[in-house]
Amino acid sequence: HEDMRRLASTDSLTGLLNRRAIETAAQTETALSLANGVPLAAILVDIDRFKIINDTFGHRFGDLALTQVALCLQENIRTIDLVGRVGGDEFAIVLRNTEWESAMTIAERLRASLASLLVDDGEFQTGIRASVGLARLDASIRDWDELVLRCDRALYSVKESGGNLVATC
Ligand code: C2E
Ligand code: C2E
Repeated sequence: HEDMRRLASTDSLTGLLNRRAIETAAQTETALSLANGVPLAAILVDIDRFKIINDTFGHRFGDLALTQVALCLQENIRTIDLVGRVGGDEFAIVLRNTEWESAMTIAERLRASLASLLVDDGEFQTGIRASVGLARLDASIRDWDELVLRCDRALYSVKESGGNLVATC
């Protein structure tokens, strides 16, 4: 059933692909890109100090923030790209058939768009900051897991320097 399949692959809060679904799609996409010599880039987005937002304003407000972040990501990439929620406040994006220079532009566009968000539930208001880690397929990478590891390392370096930046690895 098409409806059942969509439910099983969707993150219920944000409507994005869930972790399992984006991982499955990304693994396939990575293998195809490697086999065909097509460029591909991956992005991890992690909301800065999300735990503080949650603890300060409550879980409902945290959920609103996550929903707005998801929408913002979706609106700033092409429909052919993949975006999923891979952790509480972490999102993964697969840029299909995208050159490295473009990927860097897109990553910065995403960071800047998120930084311009205002989360407002009528009672509380806060801005959003996010750390962005970016990596591309090259000859040294064999699969999606290795690509994500690179993104993770880049993300770690952004977190170390205070967040709200894009880093590559
Ligand atoms: P740009 O924004 O500097 O993007 C340069 C190139 O990066 C694009 O070349 C495309 O190859 C890649 N790119 C940019 N954003 C994305 C993305 O979200 N996903 C993927 N997969 N690739 C992306 P292209 O297609 O020749 O476009 C040239 C210029 O045309 C773009 O320069 C932009 O100024 C404009 N453009 C094209 N499509 C759109 C669109 O849907 N919305 C807007 N606002 N501008 C667009
Ligand atoms: P789409 O291709 O799915 O792109 C969705 C959104 O991702 C765009 O919304 C834009 O915010 C961002 N985006 C995608 N590609 C680019 C890009 O190359 N550069 C920049 N700066 N942003 C990009 P937007 O702009 O409202 O466009 C909505 C839809 O209109 C696009 O959906 C696409 O189907 C179409 N479109 C807009 N501009 C162009 C264009 O220059 N060329 C083509 N072929 N289609 C366009």
